[in-house]
Amino acid sequence: MKYIFVTGGVVSSLGKGLTAAALGTLLENRGLKVCLQKFDPYLNVDPGTMSPYQHGEVYVLDDGAETDLDLGHYERFTNTKLSRINNLTSGQVYQTVLNNEREGKYLGKTVQVIPHVTDEIQNRIIQLGEHSKADVVITEIGGTTGDIEGLPFLEAIREFALDVGVGNAIFIHVTYVPFIKAAGELKTKPTQQSVAKLREIGIAPHILVCRCEKPLDKELRQKISLFCNVPYEAVIEEKDVDHSIYEVPLMLQRERMDDLVCKLLHLDAPGSDMTHWQEIIRKLIAPQHRVRIGVVGKYIELQDAYKSVYEAIIHGGIANDCGVAIEQVEAEDIEKLGAEKALKGLGGILVPGGFGERGIEGKILAAQYARERKVPYLGLCLGMQIACIEFARHVAGLEGAHSFEFSPDSKHPVIALMNEQKKVTKKGGTMRLGSQPCQLVVGSRAAQLYGAFLVNERHRHRYEFNNAYRARFEKAGMVFSGTSPDGLLVELIELPDHPFFMASQFHPEFLSKPNHPHPLFKGFIAAAHAQIHQKSI
Ligand code: GLN
Repeated sequence: MKYIFVTGGVVSSLGKGLTAAALGTLLENRGLKVCLQKFDPYLNVDPGTMSPYQHGEVYVLDDGAETDLDLGHYERFTNTKLSRINNLTSGQVYQTVLNNEREGKYLGKTVQVIPHVTDEIQNRIIQLGEHSKADVVITEIGGTTGDIEGLPFLEAIREFALDVGVGNAIFIHVTYVPFIKAAGELKTKPTQQSVAKLREIGIAPHILVCRCEKPLDKELRQKISLFCNVPYEAVIEEKDVDHSIYEVPLMLQRERMDDLVCKLLHLDAPGSDMTHWQEIIRKLIAPQHRVRIGVVGKYIELQDAYKSVYEAIIHGGIANDCGVAIEQVEAEDIEKLGAEKALKGLGGILVPGGFGERGIEGKILAAQYARERKVPYLGLCLGMQIACIEFARHVAGLEGAHSFEFSPDSKHPVIALMNEQKKVTKKGGTMRLGSQPCQLVVGSRAAQLYGAFLVNERHRHRYEFNNAYRARFEKAGMVFSGTSPDGLLVELIELPDHPFFMASQFHPEFLSKPNHPHPLFKGFIAAAHAQIHQKSI
């Protein structure tokens, strides 16, 4: 088994996760079995308890693990199957070490960062290797070199690489080469210093991936090579992409990064054939059609808060050869400006998941606008609950209807706390989480889009549709097109007399890939495009 460790230098948000995922794509396309994992140095056990302002999206896996959004990149770019062992935080490491200490597993010893914490980190690499049976395990270390909290992870991978020996493990350092406008030059000093920092703790990177706005010329590459002690061909340019993150694998392939990785790890694998990936890029750069989709949210100014939703919308576009312009609509703006002003001209409206009361009425207005004006609507998790509240108030005649989450005293709690949640007091990892089966109704739009009657989708919620109102809703024209197989939990709703009005209690965005767009997003974009096209005829 071969190991690749990806670290980051100079600044955060360089796209280490994307780089790791894109390398995964290239290695997979060379016929290698790849597995990716992420180490996060913060003390939360998982990111599930953090606000999107702190952390961006929480990405949910089949087994219900709430993980870092980089795992979303791993799943979108590769075929690797991820579970909770693929994301390790300092919080988990310390929890295990402290539990072991209480159980007497280290009896007689002083428990220390080295070796107890570092051993625990190394165990996770070994565990994943054994579990995945991959040819190559790629481990990304979160944070930036020089952070105090990242040190145990760096020490652990240094020791690990020493143990497995030369040719079995490599270090890739993703660094930043800023362009200084006043000087009109790219600067290498931060990279030099960041590599020096790594070498101080005994890690000498084999490859430097240089994130930059402008191309690196030969002279600059030579300079980085000389001062950072890496061969010339190991200085890899990763320029800001022009159109899409899906260009990154092709960019790295042009830089022959996968050839170099295979050479360093003595991997004998044929060159990768990326023709299918090039076709995806073609559709992204020069699509036949175009459509504008509004995403109505509460953390809309944060690029990372709805990461998988944005990606899945783009995938829906790829499936329809349709370029999608995503308009980020602040839900509170709808409350202030009115739906007409905030949403006019959009081809489709999407209300994603969320928690907390802020912006709820704006989202309800968006659902009402979409329903009444026959604009395609896709609601995800909270977006389904919103659609139900709106339908209750304005179609089913249930004045004052609301969700128990926002209005515990509502006369008509059409969204209520799930039974299994009633006794839950702890916050971390206690929602209804992960993959659950969903039975689709024969003849529904859902069944038609999926081409199946039983599907599995990922969840993350505490509230559900209140079954006391089912008959009333059905009478008013709503179709419950997907439920849990026992029929007790509503999973999908749709309005048959609308061009496209669908909403799910689950999160389909976590199962969409550029080469396998999710059926709901595919159908949504198709409807949005058809609608716009029809209106312009
Ligand atoms: N807040 C809602 C619930 O807990 C919706 C959650 C979500 O959108 N992920 O049920």
